[in-house]
Amino acid sequence: MKDIAETTDQNIFQTYSRYPLALTRGDGIKVWDEKGTEYLDFLAGIAVCNLGHCHPAVVKAAQEQLEQLIHVSNFFYTKPQADLSRLLTAHSFADRAFFCNSGAEANEAALKLARKHAYERFGGGRYEIITMTYSFHGRTFATLSATGQEKFHEGFQPLMPGFTYVPFNDIGALEKAVSEKTCAVLLEPIQGEGGVNLPSATYLAEVRHLCDSRDVLLIFDEVQVGMGRTGELFAYQHFGVEPDIMTLAKALAGGLPAGAMLAGDKVAQSFTSGSHASTFGGNPVAMAAAVAVMKELLEADVLENCRRMGAYLTRRLAGLKEKYPALITDVRGKGLIVGMELSIDGRPVVQQCLEQGLILVCTLEKIIRFLPPLIVGQEDIDRCVDILDRIFAEMQAS
Ligand code: PLP
Repeated sequence: MKDIAETTDQNIFQTYSRYPLALTRGDGIKVWDEKGTEYLDFLAGIAVCNLGHCHPAVVKAAQEQLEQLIHVSNFFYTKPQADLSRLLTAHSFADRAFFCNSGAEANEAALKLARKHAYERFGGGRYEIITMTYSFHGRTFATLSATGQEKFHEGFQPLMPGFTYVPFNDIGALEKAVSEKTCAVLLEPIQGEGGVNLPSATYLAEVRHLCDSRDVLLIFDEVQVGMGRTGELFAYQHFGVEPDIMTLAKALAGGLPAGAMLAGDKVAQSFTSGSHASTFGGNPVAMAAAVAVMKELLEADVLENCRRMGAYLTRRLAGLKEKYPALITDVRGKGLIVGMELSIDGRPVVQQCLEQGLILVCTLEKIIRFLPPLIVGQEDIDRCVDILDRIFAEMQAS
């Protein structure tokens, strides 16, 4: 470990604060470090390993594709891309997909498409995109500019022009912000990095109505909450509200890098040959893995397990909240994206969890986020909650 950490710290940009742990193996909801110590992974690569680590169907699909064809350019057709596009369009509102490699890239594509579509319909001048405070859309310049959190902007100004932020769940603020310059509204149906914030029962329908009445596109960033995380294949399906454009990444290819932007035909037609491209986008190995992920989500009882275990985890955490009302102020979530808000700094709690074999993450300093693989079992949740229970009991006593 010393060598891995030292080599990393000496040779890699210091953009990540890492735990003092080098992970070498994963299986299901567990990972192991190089000494063989086992950890329960309730982070799942930040909502990436939705089927668990090294799911056999994903491994098999990627392995078979690796032996046949690793990469060709998008000058050619490949079967894995065709198969994945058919699965995604058959099971969503969308008619077409554009493939890329990450969430930021999927959002870049969506922002470009929204502007191009407005340009073609209305001519220049309609370029503004409204996003939400506490949103997170990526780290490239456009997606950083779209991200409504100042702490990520600091030192990188001037940002890309054309973004306005309004509070999530405030339809009045959005109504005021839409102008003749607006081409799109971009939001996460459930905010992830911003603290697991759920929309009110009517908010997304109101946003949809507003967008329709003002000829503005609605983009849903489902990079974190898509691919079954909330108990439906896509989060928008809970709310009966369809976007015009949706972005996916993270769990799309079961741990291999892949992203996608999906849209209906009318909007998609604004991208023509040469409008956008990516060398690695739609890479056959990543696409083959993603096909396996989609089939597993559609055929196995993964989504049902996510709904059941999500309800169980939320119930157990609500029990902790009742037991430690001075420490825990809220528990909220949908399926297996759950946030537990504390009255204290959550980072030492996460650190102690790690020491006891549980991987969790803390966002905005006070919100502990639970993002286990969707195949998590009741006994895993019990183990996780027991560890937290012990830590909170000690904290309360001291
Ligand atoms: N959008 C959302 C909602 C995210 O949660 C993230 C990453 O956390 C991104 C976009 C950026 O994705 P990536 O890190 O793959 O660029």
